Amino acid sequence: MLTGDPHAKPKGVERVASSRGDQREWAGMLSKDVSFLLVLTGALGVKEIDRLIRKLELEKEILAEETEERDDTAYDSFPRDDSRVQVFRSWPVQTQLVENTGIFGYYPAYKRWGTVSTIAALYEVGKVWAQRHPLPHPRVPVGDISLQGGGDIDGHDSHETGRDVDMRPIRNDGVEGPLYWWDSVYSHELTQELIDIIYCNGVVQVKVIGFNDPQIQGCANWDNHDNHLHVRFWFADQNPGFPKLQLGQSNHPPVREFQRRINNWYERTGSSTRIATDGDFGQNTFSAAKEFQVAMSLEADGIAGKDTWAASLNFVIA
Ligand SMILES: [Zn+2]
Repeated sequence: MLTGDPHAKPKGVERVASSRGDQREWAGMLSKDVSFLLVLTGALGVKEIDRLIRKLELEKEILAEETEERDDTAYDSFPRDDSRVQVFRSWPVQTQLVENTGIFGYYPAYKRWGTVSTIAALYEVGKVWAQRHPLPHPRVPVGDISLQGGGDIDGHDSHETGRDVDMRPIRNDGVEGPLYWWDSVYSHELTQELIDIIYCNGVVQVKVIGFNDPQIQGCANWDNHDNHLHVRFWFADQNPGFPKLQLGQSNHPPVREFQRRINNWYERTGSSTRIATDGDFGQNTFSAAKEFQVAMSLEADGIAGKDTWAASLNFVIA
């Protein structure tokens, strides 16, 4: 974002944080009360406990970051003297995004530095996009990421740690240019497709995307995010790889991208079968996933993990 259009703190974040009060209490209970843990172990089993603790730790971390994001003064000086900055520092912001046939930068290149996983993830997104929408179609539009080395950057409250990426929505007129989601040149469909692809880049998972098209899936509503998506990836050690897909997930962007690839595979095999590309992992998608796994000589469990995703990369296009 430019300074004239300040990248304000997302309003949605405060709503989310306040609605998480009960989870905060749970997190506190879990970390303090050992006897409570023992009771849970008896009731749920160790595996389930592990899962719960991991979930609560993630919640705690998200809360901590959201608190940080709401605190303007926290960004007044850099480096900040707190442990989180030390954690961030273990992921150097020393990789610069270079334009290619799948990606273009709409702001100066000196603000396009990220962690190695952020940049690798963007290249994967660009690779898939370029296969499906080759030139002269618009490439994936990338704005500010971070300065080299990270730290305070003009016009942003975040973008300090090399894993926040601004991206424009996609236009329906083939132009690589700016727009708002309410403009007539805005393509809801192509923008949703871009979001779906971002979610399953395979390098590092997406923590949150802020964008205000009310019909879009997989985004949180944030103030001032009407003309760009704000994509925040996890750090590479926190949540690497592809998202795991399984029966029961709904309104889930990576499920829709997976469904597209399954349909491409059907088309390639000459089958007339198609599944809905709706982001809902129901029985049809489950059966199709198993069919696909059998054809790829993978374990046919109907769950899309690393190997199934890797095989799907051969079917980005029909
Ligand atoms: Zn941003």
